[in-house]
Amino acid sequence: MDIDYSTSEMHFREEVRAWLAVNTPKEPRPFDGTEGRAFDLAWQRRQYDGGWAGINWPTEYGGRGLSLIEQIIWFEEYARAGAPFIGVCFVGVNHGGPTLIARGSEDQKHYHLPRILKAETIWCQGFSEPGAGSDLAGIRTHARIDGDELVINGSKIWTSYADLADWQELLVRTDPNAERHKGLSWVICDMRTPGITVRPIRLMSGQIDLCEVFYDEVRVPVENIVGGIDQGWSVAMSTLGFERGTGFIAEQVSLAAHVEQLIGRARETTGTDGRALIASERLADDLATLRAEVTALKAMTYRTVSEVARTGTPGAEASIVRLYTSELSQRVARCEIGMMGQTMLDFSYGMKDPTHRYLYGFAQTIAGGSAQIQRNIIGERVLGLPK
Ligand SMILES: Cc1cc2nc3c(=O)[nH]c(=O)nc-3n(C[C@H](O)[C@H](O)[C@H](O)COP(=O)(O)OP(=O)(O)OC[C@H]3O[C@@H](n4cnc5c(N)ncnc54)[C@H](O)[C@@H]3O)c2cc1C
Repeated sequence: MDIDYSTSEMHFREEVRAWLAVNTPKEPRPFDGTEGRAFDLAWQRRQYDGGWAGINWPTEYGGRGLSLIEQIIWFEEYARAGAPFIGVCFVGVNHGGPTLIARGSEDQKHYHLPRILKAETIWCQGFSEPGAGSDLAGIRTHARIDGDELVINGSKIWTSYADLADWQELLVRTDPNAERHKGLSWVICDMRTPGITVRPIRLMSGQIDLCEVFYDEVRVPVENIVGGIDQGWSVAMSTLGFERGTGFIAEQVSLAAHVEQLIGRARETTGTDGRALIASERLADDLATLRAEVTALKAMTYRTVSEVARTGTPGAEASIVRLYTSELSQRVARCEIGMMGQTMLDFSYGMKDPTHRYLYGFAQTIAGGSAQIQRNIIGERVLGLPK
């Protein structure tokens, strides 16, 4: 992979920067679910109307048809402009849509991809179940075939934004007699189908981002299966590859920008001893380490991107990026909290609030597969260690 930017890529960067300077929302993303939904959809729509949604998605489905490098440039500038978290558009834009591009039928792509990009539909992910989070192959929600429909029964848990979503990427067991990994199907499920009940889970913070979803004789057309019946495991692995490998590029880039902001703040802020915070050798050392670590993360991300450019989907290496991103986020948050001292107790529940970021860091090492599971995958599938 050539890591120098070409003249046209540099020109693209200038265009992106100019557009974001004018269009990035100035107001913070609301914390409330319904207001957050309206905010996220309006922002995604503004990006689409400006020609900046789906930069590396094919043009026939509403994207720009540009390279992953241009997509990364967009994310870098996005973070630089302090643009908001993608919110309810996360699943559709970051892994549902990419999975359809890689594994969907033409009909599925033509119908869903433009709607995702135009912020007309919200997607959620129905993978985890009570008793089958880390052990995804242990899912029990099942579907029997009845004519040209699947009839689904069971339940899911920890489904982010299920209460706001229109569609779900849903993993179900279609062959109860097959080996655990072999009898699964990845299905596009309309969240308004009769028989679906969504029960929001109120979090300690007061937020409601996560839900339980129950399926009682839910009928979904067989044509909504992606990648073939009983082929769901490999489709789900593509989804998780995008979720773990490229889905967080924006977050990784903003993490790097955030470390630079912390370094700036440590230079400008005076401690109780009257000296700049950066004069503390320990803090300077921590910040230098974090700067080196975000640089290492960037290199690993570029490697994953290069893999996607070659093969269409990230491999098991995506787990390295996911693990490193989530644990590094925690280290950055911990350093920031240390710098803030007692002012961290002013917990105002904003997305950019440092205390929120620190506490959310714990969720980051669970969502999309816990840190222990990522380590298992790295050990077994990347390093070839025995199970
Ligand atoms: C903020 C957030 C958003 C989420 N959003 C979604 C979503 O939209 N859709 C969705 O489907 N899911 C979602 N999840 C669920 C997430 O994918 C699961 O929580 C995760 O996969 C862990 O599964 P579990 O909670 O069942 O924990 P368990 O699997 O019960 O694990 C409990 C602990 O045991 C450890 N453990 C389990 N098995 C092993 C093993 N073999 N080796 C070593 N350690 C092990 C785990 O690492 C963990 O520490 C979300 C989670 C969070 C925190």
